[in-house]
Amino acid sequence: MERLVDKVALISGAARGIGAAVAARLHGEGAKVVIGDVLDAEAKETAERIGEGALAVHLDVTQPAEWESAVSAALLEFGGLDVLVNNAGIVNFASIEDYSLEQWNTVLAVNLTGCFNGIKAAIPALKKSKSGSIINVSSIAGIRGYEQIPGYTASKFGVRGLSKSAALDLGRYGIRVNSIHPGVISTPMTAGMTLDMSHVAIGRMGHPGEVAGLILYLASDEASFVTGAEFVIDGGDTAGTVSVPGQS
Ligand code: NAD
Repeated sequence: MERLVDKVALISGAARGIGAAVAARLHGEGAKVVIGDVLDAEAKETAERIGEGALAVHLDVTQPAEWESAVSAALLEFGGLDVLVNNAGIVNFASIEDYSLEQWNTVLAVNLTGCFNGIKAAIPALKKSKSGSIINVSSIAGIRGYEQIPGYTASKFGVRGLSKSAALDLGRYGIRVNSIHPGVISTPMTAGMTLDMSHVAIGRMGHPGEVAGLILYLASDEASFVTGAEFVIDGGDTAGTVSVPGQS
């Protein structure tokens, strides 16, 4: 199947984890993909692994000028831009009592302002697309609160709100904007964390490829009437707590 033939996608934070899986999946459906990341060597390896039609560019999402360069690379190399996936993200931990202003500013700069910068840079190119789509990677921490990650939670709630506002402003240009809200996904971000998934309906972490499938749908013309919406992909985590009698 080729659900993204003739489309060009720019994915931030795509050197590894969910972003790399998204780049591979969109490419597999016919898209040309631009892989933007601060991890230059890993981004290049990911692009080489995907093959022809994948390009790695240096992109720090906190820097508007680097977003301009990434969009220009998509236009120069592949002739346009149809899909933007704001995926780059970081997390840091402390109770709100101990959480520093520096921690706050760092995580907000990448997760929320980075997303804003990406949208701003991509709008002129997406306006020229027949069917522009922006997918912002939030989290279930953008749906409900979590302890020890005040900045991350605030940033992901912010991404959800930004997505809705941008959807209203950009619909007139045929540009759709949606947010997605993964639960715990097995990636370098969660590697080393001890996470009990027994309370979750599906009972396990998600895989990056499962998130990529949802992003593929939102990137494609199959989602032509979908905008300003939020998509939870969490194995049932936010639906409630599973408690099986006899098991702990
Ligand atoms: P990851 O750490 O494996 O990948 C994140 C990527 O973003 C890395 O390649 C990193 O280099 C890049 N990045 C970090 N700062 C950047 C910057 N300033 N500019 C450009 N790139 C930058 O993490 P992941 O789990 O694949 O996370 C991807 C997205 O999914 C993030 O937004 C994250 O918050 C979100 N998310 C992850 C989970 C999870 O459980 N893994 C759950 C919900 C949401």
